[in-house]
Amino acid sequence: MEFKDFGLHADIERALTAKRYSQPTPIQQQAIPVLLEGRDLCGIAQTGTGKTAAFSLPSLDYLLNNPKRPAPRGCRMLVLSPTRELAAQIAQSCRDYGRFTKFSVTTVFGGVPINRQIRDLSQGVDILVATPGRLLDLIDQRALRLGDVEIFVLDEADQMMDMGFIHSLRRVAKLLPDERQNLFFSATMPKEIAALAQQFLHDPVTVSVAPQATTAEKVRQQVTFVEQKEKQALLHHVLKVEDIDRALIFTRTKHGADRVVRHLKGAGIDAYAIHGNKSQAQRTTALQAFRSGQVRLLVATDIAARGIDVSGVSHVINFEIPNVPEQYVHRIGRTARAGAEGVAISFVAPDEKAYLRDIEKVTRTRAEPVKLPEGFSEMVRNLPKPVQPPRNTGGKGRDPQRQREEAQRRNGEGQRDAAHRGPRREPQAGEGAQPQRKRRFRPRRGGVGAHKGAVTRVG
Ligand code: AMP
Repeated sequence: MEFKDFGLHADIERALTAKRYSQPTPIQQQAIPVLLEGRDLCGIAQTGTGKTAAFSLPSLDYLLNNPKRPAPRGCRMLVLSPTRELAAQIAQSCRDYGRFTKFSVTTVFGGVPINRQIRDLSQGVDILVATPGRLLDLIDQRALRLGDVEIFVLDEADQMMDMGFIHSLRRVAKLLPDERQNLFFSATMPKEIAALAQQFLHDPVTVSVAPQATTAEKVRQQVTFVEQKEKQALLHHVLKVEDIDRALIFTRTKHGADRVVRHLKGAGIDAYAIHGNKSQAQRTTALQAFRSGQVRLLVATDIAARGIDVSGVSHVINFEIPNVPEQYVHRIGRTARAGAEGVAISFVAPDEKAYLRDIEKVTRTRAEPVKLPEGFSEMVRNLPKPVQPPRNTGGKGRDPQRQREEAQRRNGEGQRDAAHRGPRREPQAGEGAQPQRKRRFRPRRGGVGAHKGAVTRVG
């Protein structure tokens, strides 16, 4: 089957030729004809299967064949994505596939100023790609209305649920018009996701590609049993002996990701971390550096890495293995794309063995065990020291919310100091800052000083 068999609009076919796509992927073969008929679709597919083109090509075709100006503060097609990275990626794909059309594609997500997004939406847009939180903020600020949505796409529904977006999604469902086409994608379809799908879909056609085991089968999987505290030495060894083009290294926690990067840097190995505590600018820099090949190692948590589409990832290293087996499938699905063979290496500590068994059950595959290298104890002993974590520089690279709170706390303290101290005086003999600080806190009337820092010192 070829793309021209779908009879897509000539402007889209030109874009596909420019992208050098010749054959549709399995999800595209199944989904595109159904969507061109205007049916609702429930797609069970992961990132990497070509699902973005599967939903954007027929949607662009519809928009081209039904030309209409988008209503002010409205959009004709709405795509919801769980993460900013995936939203940016989807928008880029829509722009690529629609490059010979005049459609406007806008992205809105949190972590960046809202005003520009309000301006972008004021005239209305053809295609809007959004994360749920910011979408609702914009609706609450009356900068966006969903009453004119003709095509609604919910991508990575299972991830949306994991991230706690269920209530936001229910709210969105109520704001959409009755008359619309719905597309719902999820990598997995447990009961609660199926129930969510029912809320959005009308008489859908269900298509499913790459059942969970299939992706795993394409990847050469290895496992090494190692103590948690010795994993870093093993990582350095693996990076030395494996022929790595680009590797994604997964940790379970944000701090874990930072620690791995500090250790790598201590050994003179360049790497970036990407996780939820990083600012949008930091995430973008890290991704660009990884994409361009400027750094070949990206250390990530599951949520941050979900939906990242970077080609040429030769290795996925599970520094810590996930406690949800599906997450493992998502992780290793980052490698072995487009037919290339990928390698997934898992470091399994004694308390992670049960997780490994669950993974093997779900993937119906068994990773090849690889022994610890010879002289490993020496490698552990000689492991270079990590670089120091950055001092508290005002919260760079931390959660923006926390930064704001810290700034408020600092300001509060500054005010209290100024208000309480009166004109500065030099400490007298035997008196200084230290003894003063030891004084018991007495609540003051009038609020000054009744701030968080002072209160906790008492309790
Ligand atoms: P997705 O699952 O939508 O994130 O797509 C995964 C990758 O496959 C992206 O880099 C797409 O550009 C690429 N892709 C999608 N469809 C095709 C196709 N028919 N032929 C070749 N590459 C494709």
